[in-house]
Amino acid sequence: MKVLVAGYQGKMGREAVKAIKNIGFEVVGVGSDDNLLDAIKSTHPDVMVDLTTPKQVVVHTRTAIEHNLPIVVGATGLKPSDIDDLSALATHHKTGVIIAPNFSIGALLMMHCAQIAEHFYDDINIVEVHHPQKKDQPSGTALRTAAMLSKSAKIQSRRQKGVIADQTVYFGGEGETFSVSHHTSDRTCFMSGLLFSIKKVMQLDCLVYGLDHLLFPNGASAPVDIF
Ligand code: NAP
Repeated sequence: MKVLVAGYQGKMGREAVKAIKNIGFEVVGVGSDDNLLDAIKSTHPDVMVDLTTPKQVVVHTRTAIEHNLPIVVGATGLKPSDIDDLSALATHHKTGVIIAPNFSIGALLMMHCAQIAEHFYDDINIVEVHHPQKKDQPSGTALRTAAMLSKSAKIQSRRQKGVIADQTVYFGGEGETFSVSHHTSDRTCFMSGLLFSIKKVMQLDCLVYGLDHLLFPNGASAPVDIF
């Protein structure tokens, strides 16, 4: 299996290359000085991973789909209209695409728990904190969390040295607050979800936005409202 990694020299890209090689897959690295199309045509990868920037990710994803190359999109910063356009293109080309704003199991569990908690509270705040080099704001995880909730949630973003990626969802009710948090201490936490996505995307013929759809295919069931 040959995996093309766009953004292979970045913080996430370097971890991804290690993890992909560790399971015995071959890696083709594409950096900002390389031409993606030339790399696709000359190396014939089985799957592509994009870990670049909000500026590049849409064009890269479009290029992969137009060449029937299944793609896992880890880069964030896509607008809802971009996701809709790419989804239509993926369906047209019958090509698998996974857009995963967060690959970590802990973040996916935090988002899933937030979906359960929202049944009991109306006042919802999502607070995300990331490292200062992060290019998009709010984070893709915060936007995905808000999209997963049926009630409206306010998003606050902070950029802070020493942090990789943290998010807390706060719920306010009568005389109490409830919160669910996820804290990232190392980028290795993203790798099991990334490797799962690389294997899974080749079985798809359309776009999936959010690993929650694959991890929790039945969604978060509504609890019995006893209060
Ligand atoms: P980073 O360290 O800035 O890495 C981005 C890399 O992309 C750089 O090496 C950059 O190269 C390269 N690049 C830029 N333009 C390119 C092009 N046209 N072709 C190929 N490579 C290009 O950023 P990061 O922290 O690794 O994050 C990368 C993305 O992943 C961000 O969007 C971030 O939000 C996202 N992310 C996702 C998850 C998740 O779980 N899905 C987790 C963490 C981060 P140059 O330096 O030469 O420009």
